[in-house]
Amino acid sequence: MIPRKTAVQRRGAIDGENLSRAVSIQHYFSSRLLAWYDGHARDLPWRKSRDPYRVWLSEIMLQQTRVAAVLEHYRVFLKKFPTVEKLAAAREATVLALWSGLGYYRRARMLHAAAKKVTREHGGRFPETSLSLHQLPGIGRYTAAAIASIAFGEPVAAVDGNAERVLSRLFGGHHDERATWENAQDLLDRERPGDANQAMMELGATVCLPREPKCLLCPVSELCATRGDLPRISKAPPQTKRVIHFGLARRSGEVFLQQRSSKESLMPGMWELPPLTGDQHGQALFSLRHSITITDYSVRVTELAFPDEHAGNWIASSRLPALPLTGLARKILRKIEML
Ligand code: SF4
Repeated sequence: MIPRKTAVQRRGAIDGENLSRAVSIQHYFSSRLLAWYDGHARDLPWRKSRDPYRVWLSEIMLQQTRVAAVLEHYRVFLKKFPTVEKLAAAREATVLALWSGLGYYRRARMLHAAAKKVTREHGGRFPETSLSLHQLPGIGRYTAAAIASIAFGEPVAAVDGNAERVLSRLFGGHHDERATWENAQDLLDRERPGDANQAMMELGATVCLPREPKCLLCPVSELCATRGDLPRISKAPPQTKRVIHFGLARRSGEVFLQQRSSKESLMPGMWELPPLTGDQHGQALFSLRHSITITDYSVRVTELAFPDEHAGNWIASSRLPALPLTGLARKILRKIEML
């Protein structure tokens, strides 16, 4: 179906032209973009399947997380939970343990809650429209549209950060959220909506890069209003630096860990080495770096002389792989080869 008023018309680029002209622009855009995608898309495991469970899992894992970090987690997660029913039946601690290293643990909890809902209320079958997917825990507008278009072929645009950047450059200006989604919807290929959405995002991830778009390689550069020449209105917030200390105590195959309170806003219920305050730490055994969102941490790990003075438990190294560890705890335990 042809949109009643295309984005190209909205921005006035073809004022006075008739609808068929707009349609042909849309068709040209789609065919160029999809041909490029067919030949250049990265070979990623979640692109081999249209199974809604796998599409959903990859979309949740990829939120605010690099593809390289997701690849191994995706493989291990699917091996452990090959179906939504298996995931729904798992203990939360097991789900969090497998999520460890991806960060933003609320996603894992929402994922688990959504799996239970799909199993309990939908007989293990995912709802097939973006509107009904949107009702599941942890599924926002973008994720609902991505799953609906990729798994079920619903002609609905999905706009993530990459697609938003491409659209703003294509249309030559900063648009509000509503206009951006309308523009995406107008350009969407109705025959292959899932591929079209992925193609737009892939273009943003590999060609229309934030700092230096590779316009010479862009399949739709002829239709682009800016060719990368759009002034930036927002700058990434500056990274802040912090030094933090943790205590390490080991004894014959065990390590002393403590569990974060369930009331913590960050990583509630996850396990970590006991954090130390200013007067508790001595000479560092070793240091490492760790980044969370806009903070770069310099992490100093000190011998913990009196672990019993801290709340916590001795944990056997054989239990560590199944324990929901913070990403930093996992990093430290790998460094000392307990994981
Ligand atoms: Fe992005 Fe350049 Fe392509 Fe425009 S021409 S969409 S700025 S890569």
